[in-house]
Amino acid sequence: MIPTTMRALAKQTPAPGLDLIEAPVPRPGPSDVLIRVKRTSICGTDVHIHKWDKWAQSTIKPPMIIGHEFVGEIAAMGDQVIGFELGDLVDGEGHITCGQCRNCHAGRRHLCADTQGVGVNRDGAFADYLCLPATNAVKVDPSIPLDVLSCFDPLGNATHTTLQWDLVGEDVLITGAGPIGCMAAAIAKQSAARHVVVTDVNPDRLAIAAQMGATATVNVAEEKLPDIQKRLGMTEGFDIGLEMSGNPAALRDMINNMAHGGRISLLGIMPEEAAIDWNKVVFNMLTLRGIYGREIYETWYKMTALIQSGLDISPVISHRFACTDYAEAFELMMSGKSGKIILNWEADVLPEVPSNR
Ligand code: NAD
Ligand code: ZN
Repeated sequence: MIPTTMRALAKQTPAPGLDLIEAPVPRPGPSDVLIRVKRTSICGTDVHIHKWDKWAQSTIKPPMIIGHEFVGEIAAMGDQVIGFELGDLVDGEGHITCGQCRNCHAGRRHLCADTQGVGVNRDGAFADYLCLPATNAVKVDPSIPLDVLSCFDPLGNATHTTLQWDLVGEDVLITGAGPIGCMAAAIAKQSAARHVVVTDVNPDRLAIAAQMGATATVNVAEEKLPDIQKRLGMTEGFDIGLEMSGNPAALRDMINNMAHGGRISLLGIMPEEAAIDWNKVVFNMLTLRGIYGREIYETWYKMTALIQSGLDISPVISHRFACTDYAEAFELMMSGKSGKIILNWEADVLPEVPSNR
């Protein structure tokens, strides 16, 4: 039986903070699925929304349920949905594409210029139930742990960014040892890269990168990349760069340490303007490629196959909380002393929350 109300973590007013509220369970339209959420994980985007920073103020329209990293099972579906059964374990692609533009028509949904973000532009997944167009639900391998499945959205960012290039035998530089940089290190290693060097300024995060298989980790506050190259016996610079910090200094560091003809994918979201020495790009014939989201659904296929063939992202998952302990989880996330934090929505009790929505 599907209840009429549910728990949901929402941005209720245009101000800092979040509230656990009692909200109506959404009703699936003819081509939607209703998903009973089991686990969610907290993303940097959720933290921006919690803090109500400049980006959140210009993007989020309260009241709205937040969150987009989740795994759950199909609890109901519209009468036009095919290919799913009640109880199927699913993840969801958080970018809802327009279905009308040239790229959507050509099957290049990741290049749609008119996407709606789950938990950003419409109600999200930090709730007992989530409604999604069936075309955005992805059946997942139930032998993969739920906590890992709830991280498939950022794992997809890492996979999409890393697999842009042929990595076999190449030397890879990853700037930023956040959860995505750490996952990228493991993917690069599994893809037969030679050296995978990860930089950060946070020693705890660099320790996770090392656990994930990085050949070397570099605290750029203490050590310089040319010294590491020397230590590893590298003579010509990095072949592949994966920018995953969103820090302009890290991007400049990367550009200065690439081999001629090096290829860079940029995932990190920079402040409005980030200056680089364009002559380095020109004279060293570097290729720069921006990356957004995941390739729908090729990335989902690839990351599932990577996990099935041994990729282990569990060192990146540092903490687990009941969804009702969200405040503590967000505090920890904002302290920078965590990797991925999982919220568990499976406990049955509906806590005492004001009926304000
Ligand atoms: P995160 O903020 O947890 O990690 C970024 C890391 O970069 C931190 O550990 C930080 O200490 C480190 N850093 C800061 N300055 C540095 C420097 N000078 N050199 C090296 N490292 C430095 O972020 P995350 O969740 O791992 O995501 C990585 C980036 O990707 C973020 O910028 C995020 O906003 C972005 N992102 C982009 C997309 C997309 O679709 N393009 C999707 C998800 C995330
Ligand atoms: Zn489109």
